[in-house]
Amino acid sequence: MTLDIDWDNLGFEYHKLPYRYISYFKDGKWDQGQLTEDATLHLSEAAPALHYGQQAFEGLKAYRTKDGSIQLFRPDCNAARLQATADRLLMPQISTEQFIEAVKQVVKANQDYVPPYGTGASLYLRPLLIGIGDVIGVRPADEYIFTIFAMPVGAYFKGGLMPTNFIVSEDYDRAAPFGTGAAKVGGNYAGSLLPGKAAKASGFSDVIYLDPATHTKIEEVGAANFFGITANNEFITPLSPSILPSITKYSLLELAEKRLGMTVIEGDVPINDLGQFVEAGACGTAAVISPIGGIQYRNHLHVFYSETEVGPVTRRLYDELVGIQVGDIEAPEGWIVKVD
Ligand SMILES: *Cc1c(COP(=O)(O)O)cnc(C)c1O
Repeated sequence: MTLDIDWDNLGFEYHKLPYRYISYFKDGKWDQGQLTEDATLHLSEAAPALHYGQQAFEGLKAYRTKDGSIQLFRPDCNAARLQATADRLLMPQISTEQFIEAVKQVVKANQDYVPPYGTGASLYLRPLLIGIGDVIGVRPADEYIFTIFAMPVGAYFKGGLMPTNFIVSEDYDRAAPFGTGAAKVGGNYAGSLLPGKAAKASGFSDVIYLDPATHTKIEEVGAANFFGITANNEFITPLSPSILPSITKYSLLELAEKRLGMTVIEGDVPINDLGQFVEAGACGTAAVISPIGGIQYRNHLHVFYSETEVGPVTRRLYDELVGIQVGDIEAPEGWIVKVD
């Protein structure tokens, strides 16, 4: 089958692929789940997902390897995180087995849309868990939909890794100190649209969120995690109950320690101590790593490595992780799941 897709110039946009997975929770249990060609969800106007934000999502990718096979990167971690989010919002869990099986079914059914090896593009998967049914009171839904749809997406940086600048948000927080910051829920995103828009209007890629309790420590970079590299070969990343635990971040942390021989530290990252870093980056599934050129805090732009070039450690971490994801570099035990 030949498709009319320009693999080299894909962005991050919705494409309606032939198949998606859907499973319903009713009478206390999940059904078998199945593939469907229907890309529209049918739900009650009273669905709690619509009114009270009882909804969660995930994001992961399927990659084409050099030999033409297709593989997933740590889907068990996405399953575990969705379970944690479900617990926080009183939604029923999806078992890791059902989650991975559903992901595989969607990838296989749409396999013609998994971009070729070497294009930097991949198949993005979007699992969604929502509370449905006729519930208008503030309480958890009795019924739920778990669905996974997919679309081909391009490499985030077409011309290679490029640093961009970010600005610290002092007027808005992403999450409350013990709120839902660690849960992957849409509500966190709705609240981030306004500060994100203001940052972009001022010429920055996005905002840096500080810890909501004291506004003295870095928490997140837009919808990505933060890491910094010191001259002492340390990989430092914030630790806080209001940060979304990024699978990319924990993978980089492990590679930094085990393969690059770095010292890894999860702890406080004071906004007044940016001078300790020689490189910095934002990380997440979408871009893997977005190098941070500089951070604007009040009236000062602190530049790390360079505003125009990516630092050597950031590049090595990126190459190692991407190499593992596309199958060019041997993965740590259990990180790769083949779709056959
Ligand atoms: C999904 C997400 C990330 C990145 O997580 P990955 O598992 O690396 O994709 C970081 N921050 C927020 C707020 C997120 O929602």
